[in-house]
Amino acid sequence: MNPYYTDYSEYLSRIFPGIKVQKISVDAGRSCPNRDGTIGRGGCLYCDNRSFVPSYCSDSESVARQIERGKTFFSRKYPYMRYLVYFQAFTFTHGTTVEEMERVVKDVVSHDGVVGVIIGTRPDCFPTPVASMLGEINRITPVIMEFGAETSFDRTLRRINRGHTWRQTVEAVERASGEGLRCGLHLIVGLPGETLDDALASVERACHLPVDSLKLHQLQLIKGTPLWREWKAGVPDIQVLDLDEYVDFCRRVVRLVPREIAIERFLSQAPPEMVEAPSWGLKNYEFTNLLLSRLS
Ligand code: SF4
Repeated sequence: MNPYYTDYSEYLSRIFPGIKVQKISVDAGRSCPNRDGTIGRGGCLYCDNRSFVPSYCSDSESVARQIERGKTFFSRKYPYMRYLVYFQAFTFTHGTTVEEMERVVKDVVSHDGVVGVIIGTRPDCFPTPVASMLGEINRITPVIMEFGAETSFDRTLRRINRGHTWRQTVEAVERASGEGLRCGLHLIVGLPGETLDDALASVERACHLPVDSLKLHQLQLIKGTPLWREWKAGVPDIQVLDLDEYVDFCRRVVRLVPREIAIERFLSQAPPEMVEAPSWGLKNYEFTNLLLSRLS
C-alpha cells in the first residue's frame, strides 16, 4: 500500500477486491458539444483529442471489437485479468438518446471479463435521466463517472473556452452521488492565468464534494491547438510548468487530499511528438517514483 495517499490500484481493489482489473479505453463514436456547435465550435483551447486516446482505440471499429482488441493486448501479460471499459473519447453522454446509451452500456457489461464501466463526460452533459439510467445499471455492475472539471475558477473556464461552469461540476457530482455512482474529477494544473495556489484551491474544493477519486495532470501545450498558437505568439498568461515546482505542488496535494479520495495520477502523457512543452521525458510511473522519493 502507498503510505502517502490512496493510489488508483488501491482504489480499484476497494471496488473489486481480490481481482486484477485493467482499463480498456473505447471510442463509442461520440462527438463533443464544444466542437459540434451544441455549446461551441472551437473546443477547449488546449484540446487535441488524439493526445489522450490510446492508439488501439478507434471509432472506426465497433465497441465490441475494441474491447476484444484491448483484452487480447492486456491478457498476454495477465491471462486472468478483468476489465473496466472506459468510454474516454470525447463526450459519451452527448449526442444520443438515453435509450441508446443504455443499450451500449448494457452490451458492454455483458462481455466476458468486463466487471464495470467508466463514463468520461463533461459536467454539463449529465442530465437527471442519464444519471438515473446509469444508477440502475450500477446496482448490478459498477459504473464510475469521470467528469472533466479542469478547474474550480469560472474565469479560467471562460479563458480556456471550456463552455461550462464550476457550479455545473458541483451539480453533476451531486447528481451522480445521489444515484450511488462513484465519481472522479479531472483537474488540470497550470492553466492560463492560474497560480499553483489557485490549482491547489481547486483540489481543495473538489475534496469537499462527494468524489471518490481525482485525476490531475500538468497542462501540456499540444502542437496545433489554439493554446499552443497563443503561447507561440507570446501571450503572457500561459506559463510552462517546471518539473521541480510541479513535484512540489503534488507534495502539497498529497498532504491535502484525504485517504478516502484516491489520486489516480499526476501526469498526462500525450505522445511526445505532439507535445511542445513541457518536455520532462518522464513516464507516469517515473513521475510517481520521483514524487514518492520526495515524500519520504
Ligand atoms: S477537452 Fe473534451 S470537452 Fe474540450 S474540446 Fe476536447 S473533447 Fe471537447
